[in-house]
Amino acid sequence: MKKTIRDFNIENKKVIIRCDFNVPIKEGIIKDDTRIKKSIPTIRYALDHNAKIILMSHLGRIKSEQDKTKNNLEIVTDRLSELLNQKISFINETRGEELENSISKMKNKDIILIQNTRYEDLNEKKESSCNMDLAKYWASLGDIFINDAFGTLHRSHASNVGISTYLPSGIGLLVEQELNALSYLFDPERPFIIILGGAKVSDKIGLIENLITKCDKLLIGGGMAFTFLKAENYNIGNSLFDEESLDFCKKILKKYPSKIVLPVDIVCNNKYEDTKGSIKDITELTSEEMGLDIGPNTINIFKNNLKEAKTVLWNGPLGVYEFKNYVKGTNSILNYLTTLNTKTVIGGGDTVAAVTSCHVTDKLYHISTGGGATLEYLEGKDLPGLRNISEK
Ligand code: AMP
Repeated sequence: MKKTIRDFNIENKKVIIRCDFNVPIKEGIIKDDTRIKKSIPTIRYALDHNAKIILMSHLGRIKSEQDKTKNNLEIVTDRLSELLNQKISFINETRGEELENSISKMKNKDIILIQNTRYEDLNEKKESSCNMDLAKYWASLGDIFINDAFGTLHRSHASNVGISTYLPSGIGLLVEQELNALSYLFDPERPFIIILGGAKVSDKIGLIENLITKCDKLLIGGGMAFTFLKAENYNIGNSLFDEESLDFCKKILKKYPSKIVLPVDIVCNNKYEDTKGSIKDITELTSEEMGLDIGPNTINIFKNNLKEAKTVLWNGPLGVYEFKNYVKGTNSILNYLTTLNTKTVIGGGDTVAAVTSCHVTDKLYHISTGGGATLEYLEGKDLPGLRNISEK
């Protein structure tokens, strides 16, 4: 187990906490504050233990001066301050005198939020390329480093891997919770069922390869099901097709024929649009049609397979859930899971948005906040952000 913030004496210390405040923003308004809320337990812990708290995060990408206005991290200050019920000083720079002076004047329980770490990307991509001089400078501002940005653990940046090279480092409570829940899947209570959907097979090959031997069934829906169906010689019409993954699908279907469950019927349309579709057996698709959701028989087959499950991992919607005419497969399975006595882990990305819009988040075991980081961890890859954090 990695050291966590609990393993350090942080009283009177300057604790740098790398958060993930990369929130979606539209027209100057935070559209979803989940990531800010998820950072609260670690910050609260640091407050309760009388630390001086220095918060860092990236927000969006910074490729030009214009991107700076759009991705100014100051937008997070008010919401964070509201959630913590405490004043937060925002420092509008990523290095320099104002930052250094403010930190030198900090008292216990003070909180400072530093400007978007990716402002440094205008300076030879120093943040994203993990420039060690920048990392050393940032490390010089604190005594202890806590990485609580789960969503960027798969990236090697100056503000995560870099700083942890120079300071005693641990993970925050969000990262700890994520790792515990996701690593449960490496030795889960069985039956263990994996549900995969979404657009591309190629994004999920690593996950399938790593977890297929551990699961009892792999239920496949969404756009990615059609490459598997094509591998079984069905006419998939105009449905999504991921040609580069066709050989992989053939290989995996041959190796695990009884583990993989594919749709038997689908809801299809002649166009990629939110108009009512028709339900068809997968043998009936014409060349003009595309499958946009799983059909009622498939929903029942998936439910039957899930009935006895003790553990479920789900990544990727089972249809074009953004269209109200094609959300039924995803929502039916989601609602069914909430009635079962099973540990359901939602593996990041679009599935989280689908779950959030269904208002069932509190009924599931774990909803992972990471996209790429979640997938890479489930693929069994080492996450660079954990590299310099010592074991307990
Ligand atoms: P991913 O990021 O791979 O999980 O893909 C998520 C996207 O897959 C969502 O935007 C869905 O609209 C899309 N998707 C799911 N099912 C289908 C489908 N049958 N055809 C086209 N797109 C789909």
